[in-house]
Amino acid sequence: MMIVMKEGATEDQVAAVIERVQAAGAQAHISKGELVTVIGAIGDREHVANLGLEGAPGVDHLVPILKPYKLASEQYKRGERTVVEVDGRKIGGDHFATIAGPCTVESREVILDTARAVKDAGGQLLRGGAYKPRTSPYSFQGLGDAGLPLLAEAKAETGLPIVTELMDVRDLDAVVGVADVIQLGARNMQNYTLLTEVGRTGVPVLLKRGLSATLEELLMAAEYVLKEGNPSVLLCERGVRAFEPSYRFALDLMAVPVLRELTHLPVIVDPSHAAGKRSLVEPLSLAAAAAGADGIIVEVHPQPEEAICDGPQQLYADRFAEYAEQVERAAAVAGKVLSNV
Ligand code: PEP
Ligand code: MN
Repeated sequence: MMIVMKEGATEDQVAAVIERVQAAGAQAHISKGELVTVIGAIGDREHVANLGLEGAPGVDHLVPILKPYKLASEQYKRGERTVVEVDGRKIGGDHFATIAGPCTVESREVILDTARAVKDAGGQLLRGGAYKPRTSPYSFQGLGDAGLPLLAEAKAETGLPIVTELMDVRDLDAVVGVADVIQLGARNMQNYTLLTEVGRTGVPVLLKRGLSATLEELLMAAEYVLKEGNPSVLLCERGVRAFEPSYRFALDLMAVPVLRELTHLPVIVDPSHAAGKRSLVEPLSLAAAAAGADGIIVEVHPQPEEAICDGPQQLYADRFAEYAEQVERAAAVAGKVLSNV
């Protein structure tokens, strides 16, 4: 339920409503707009239904949120878009971000060389997984803890904020020490304890869509993070399982405009993991940017042939600037600009 306060509602009236909401066993989430304050009363249906706040001092009207996800719903922000800001780089609204880097932090040299290329190409954030979810337990599992200082070093040199994956709640403190954005991978989209813990950190989250997850399931997963008081969630479309074997996953670009209708949260597209193949990455990126995505997360490597994982889909670092320029143009078609500091 959304409680829309009157334009001139006083602080005391807002506080009184919050108290009533909490006394009824629901959570109160406050969203201060330019003109009015809206209080989201979130909780079990019975708690929220009997609040009886119609006509209370300062209350203008009540609006039920019909979707099962509440804080993530478009309705909750009444048409306003969430802009997530990471070290001065804005993502969402009119702002587009290019997030790029190797699949995994393989070595100091690879992460530093890639970071320099991303920086020179005007990229906004650096990606790289220290902990890797691998289909085979015999494949390289990432450098783990040893990879984190290398990301920190790349940030210290280039100033690029870091996006890195957290797979296990036991690594939370270590990852929070380095990450500017915590990535939750497709395979963990419905790991509800992880979502809750990451929500409690307040660190921005890049939440990847599960391999067979519906958009409603993605938004319900985002709700777990938002519910903990962390408003900074970036949704990521990375391709879903389909029947065509000539590419890795089917990039669901329809998700971009559909999510725009369902939620105020920014939507990032990962063309690399969907494609599995370098030649497909640029056309998919252009299509995503033109469709109105708020950013791209893409894999790039100085020598993809030698990459430990996902080599065939990684872009060449020395050609990355050209690619980034094309993507920027496509984003401009959708009315978005890169936010550089
Ligand atoms: C990744 O981005 O490094 C990754 C493993 O992606 P996904 O979780 O989408 O498979
Ligand atoms: Mn990868």
